[in-house]
Amino acid sequence: MGYDALIPLAQPVLGDLEARLVGEVLQSGQLSLGPRVPDFERLFARRVGAPFASAVSSGTAGLHLALRAVGVSDGDEVITSPLSFVASANVALYERARPVFADIDPITLNLDPAAAEAAVTERTRAVLPVHIFGFPADMASFEAVAARHGLSIVEDACEALGATYADGKPVGGRGHPTVFGFYANKQLTTGEGGMVTLGSGEMKTRIDSERNQGRAPDMGWLDHDRLGFNYRLSDVACAIGIAQMERLEGMLADRARAASLYREALEDFAGLELPCGDRGGEKRGWFVFVVQLPRGVDRDGVVRQLLERGIQSKPYLPAIHLMSFYRERFGHRPGEFPICEDVAERSLALPFFPGMSESQVQRVVEQLRVVLGR
Ligand SMILES: *Cc1c(COP(=O)(O)O)cnc(C)c1O
Repeated sequence: MGYDALIPLAQPVLGDLEARLVGEVLQSGQLSLGPRVPDFERLFARRVGAPFASAVSSGTAGLHLALRAVGVSDGDEVITSPLSFVASANVALYERARPVFADIDPITLNLDPAAAEAAVTERTRAVLPVHIFGFPADMASFEAVAARHGLSIVEDACEALGATYADGKPVGGRGHPTVFGFYANKQLTTGEGGMVTLGSGEMKTRIDSERNQGRAPDMGWLDHDRLGFNYRLSDVACAIGIAQMERLEGMLADRARAASLYREALEDFAGLELPCGDRGGEKRGWFVFVVQLPRGVDRDGVVRQLLERGIQSKPYLPAIHLMSFYRERFGHRPGEFPICEDVAERSLALPFFPGMSESQVQRVVEQLRVVLGR
């Protein structure tokens, strides 16, 4: 068709090691509830500096169990970011709690702690900051808000593996339940999957039981002492995860390298806003490369024209409160969270993955210049 091969939005790194470890699981005959689960959990917990970790079937499942673990239930309010993947708000609804949104910080694009505090009511039970696009939320401020109002914290780190907080420590090791996701576009993949890192052994016991139909570890399979789910991660998936842990530092470094190639190539691109840089100990775990187009540009047109030129891109992310389900259910309307809405209208994710070559980055930037006429 006259163009080079399509440059995809995302592309996982998988190889012989994954195949070998999965093959061993297949040969063992134990495809679930086997030894690969605790093996993967231990490796992951150690990487983020958390005492405990529980593997689950998705990031969404992890967020759901984490909210239950901190006691969110009927009629509670959970304050969270409107600029996120919809799962971080939906999980409150699973427990008949209400997701309450507050606006974001215009630089980091994370939930603004002051706006979150202003949204606290007597029904607020928890705050659920999202480390959006891999940039760490201001956890010291959220912890202060939580302490002032007696709230629990659950962190959505589904986009933030490899990020560090202001104190330089890895995201996931702060003691609050912190949830990671392993869908195929994330920094580490198991196909589908997730992990909750924890500071409390009691919470791990509860989550391990609830992911497995409410069974206690020492009970016969017929006795279930609480409501549970099937949110297990299989040994097949955990084997992929173990292999991915071996490559993790390399994959994270490759993502960071792709990000600096983009930054160099886009530095003098008039009107385009780039992801904020690291500040002090706050370091991004690179997940996506999202730019904000100049106001007034037809973003859907840009996406279409880039695709015609062999480049995938995606509006990323839409504001959750303006999705039709949230509008209808809660009566949200435009204008409630102006910073989020402005960002959501203009943001565009460009192709971004560890194996991206310098020439691919250049092709994306060249075509973006053509399409935007600069
Ligand atoms: C990916 C993601 C999730 C969870 O996704 P799953 O597909 O359920 O693993 C949750 N929150 C955010 C912000 C995400 O990007």
